[in-house]
Amino acid sequence: MDRLNGKVAAVTGGSVGIGAAVVRRMAEEGARVAILDRDDHKGQALAGELKDRGLTANYWHCDVTDEQQVKRVLDEVADTFGSLTVLVNNAGISGPNKPTHELSEEEWDIVQNVNVKGVFFCTKHAIPHMKKAGIGSIINLSSIYGLISAPDVPPYHASKGAVRLMTKTDALLYAADKIRVNSVHPGFIWTPMVENHLKTTGMDPEKARQVTAELHPVGHLGEPDDIAWGTVYLASDESKFVTGSELVIDGGYTAR
Ligand code: NAP
Repeated sequence: MDRLNGKVAAVTGGSVGIGAAVVRRMAEEGARVAILDRDDHKGQALAGELKDRGLTANYWHCDVTDEQQVKRVLDEVADTFGSLTVLVNNAGISGPNKPTHELSEEEWDIVQNVNVKGVFFCTKHAIPHMKKAGIGSIINLSSIYGLISAPDVPPYHASKGAVRLMTKTDALLYAADKIRVNSVHPGFIWTPMVENHLKTTGMDPEKARQVTAELHPVGHLGEPDDIAWGTVYLASDESKFVTGSELVIDGGYTAR
């Protein structure tokens, strides 16, 4: 219950899905948690639920593609909670599921803006607070799609591959500042993103879910909590020797 005592964590895209599970587990482990999202209704409801349980969480509206908003919100989080020592770059979109030759420039850019530039903006404006605190852990949500390929969502694959290497570069740049940076690579986790993505396949929803589950040697999809526990480890001092690494949580998907 106290693995994250003293930590202040900002979780982007924290209102639903994997982000919401990360928020819950980090708050339960003693962190003061800032939920950053553009879904105000769900974000505020989650903050309220955690406060009712005696835990510490606040919601901020924050679109990660807006640099000024990102800076203002992260500064406010640090003012409110006294510091900022953990950043979970979780906000992401899967984008259009079309082959490369059918994609427009705009469709390509939308995905890179959220999944890549959003990680850049949040990292850029979290680092000064972590330097001031003398400690930090940045956790970037990449994907199995940032490690291996599949014949779908080309802009998403590109974005998650970028996040994997941005992680390693920042791990090297900030190691001397005691700021660790790691990436997490989930397999398919049942969230609104995956539900919507499977609709783009044109298959019957139950069939699509079953076919996707079978891609994982364990025989089923993952749950948001499977990822949340990995992020708790990376945010905690239990992982103090871990930086620049790739935590793969995928039911064996990439082990083949
Ligand atoms: P999700 O269910 O779609 O939730 C993502 C949250 O991020 C939503 O609340 C979304 O708000 C928010 N968001 C999107 N764009 C944003 C922006 N510009 N600024 C702030 N918030 C924004 O996604 P998820 O499945 O939990 O995925 C979370 C992360 O894990 C993503 O980076 C994803 O790529 C990665 N991941 C997921 C899976 C999986 O199987 N689920 C696998 C590998 C990696 P809106 O609803 O308004 O868009």
